[in-house]
Amino acid sequence: MNVVRRKRLDALKVELGDRSYPIFIGENILTQSNIADYISGIQVMVVSNEPIAPLHLQALIDQLVDFQVDQVLLPDGEQFKTLASVELIFDQLLEKRHNRTSTLIALGGGVVGDMTGFAAACYQRGVNFIQIPTTLLSQVDSSVGGKTGVNHPLGKNMVGAFYQPQAVVADIGFFSTLAKREVAAGISEVVKYGLIYDADFFVWLENNMQAIVNLDSQAMTYAVRRSCEIKAQVVAEDETEQGIRAWLNLGHTFGHAIETHQGYGNWLHGEAVAAGTIMALDLSCRLGWISEELLERTKAMFKVAGLPVLPPENMTEDDFIQLMSVDKKVLEGKIRLVLIKELGRAIVTDDFDHALLKQTLAIAN
Ligand code: NAD
Ligand code: MG
Repeated sequence: MNVVRRKRLDALKVELGDRSYPIFIGENILTQSNIADYISGIQVMVVSNEPIAPLHLQALIDQLVDFQVDQVLLPDGEQFKTLASVELIFDQLLEKRHNRTSTLIALGGGVVGDMTGFAAACYQRGVNFIQIPTTLLSQVDSSVGGKTGVNHPLGKNMVGAFYQPQAVVADIGFFSTLAKREVAAGISEVVKYGLIYDADFFVWLENNMQAIVNLDSQAMTYAVRRSCEIKAQVVAEDETEQGIRAWLNLGHTFGHAIETHQGYGNWLHGEAVAAGTIMALDLSCRLGWISEELLERTKAMFKVAGLPVLPPENMTEDDFIQLMSVDKKVLEGKIRLVLIKELGRAIVTDDFDHALLKQTLAIAN
């Protein structure tokens, strides 16, 4: 039993009716987040991976003294985001006789989070789960919104489910052990929220980018909080991506083409999205919707973060067109893109001059 009364943390709430849940955000809050309040039964399965567990697992286990805690450590990396890895979770759950009241806790980045959520959606047709995202990308993006799943050899994220957690604990203290390059990859998604939804946040990011890169506690907490707020708002409006949720894919059609062309892992997703975002802004600029100044300001921010601002030189226009034509947003053979109408507002459209798109695709050559 906990005899020490712990301070209540403020939470951000994701509003989804009876599936609403809180996101706790701050530095070193894992120990204050009263995680036990979100566990209904007595059985807990912690899912993490080999590199993260030695760094952060014990701090979590210490919070779970009142429960029967089992754990499964998955192999690390996007190439292991597979049904075979999810089966390792089911194996443990069954071997340790977890029942329907069991709670799964994901401790890791987006890969661990997406697989744990999917396992929770499927195990006995659905058990509770809690997300403890440990990368910037997973705190501001993958842990909010309920998309879970795995890759298939023929396509990324092709098998999955929408499934919401009971709670999310986003502790920015985890970033102290995260590679700088991974922090930068998350920053590109943070900048995205400013571009598509909140001009003031964009300006705030410009003024605070160096502090964020330095992992300044206040700046990072605000950046994560505002990003989660925006994603939560977008998801609450459009959970199943019929409309505005597609804005979150700014830079992603170009970015996915870059990732695929370079081979997964050579460019991190966030790096490809940064170059892709610059390409989306470049086209928006050619269409006369935004100023060149906004394009340059975004590039300047990405440079401070250590993110690329051009696509790889070895990619031709044809490479892009071919790879972009398999995007999920393609309808009746037309490439649809998320572009920026003005700072803080995006649009999804296939109505643009393809000669201008070609100029954008050639910016690195
Ligand atoms: P990741 O989970 O692979 O983590 C990146 C690397 O950092 C891994 O090697 C991991 O082991 C390591 N790591 C994580 N936290 C650490 C820490 N605190 N200290 C040291 N090392 C740490 O990658 P990611 O960028 O977090 O997530 C990418 C995944 O998220 C992709 O599979 C993507 O499809 C998915 N995603 C999902 C959604 C969604 O809505 N569900 C949204 C965006 C991305
Ligand atoms: Mg993304």
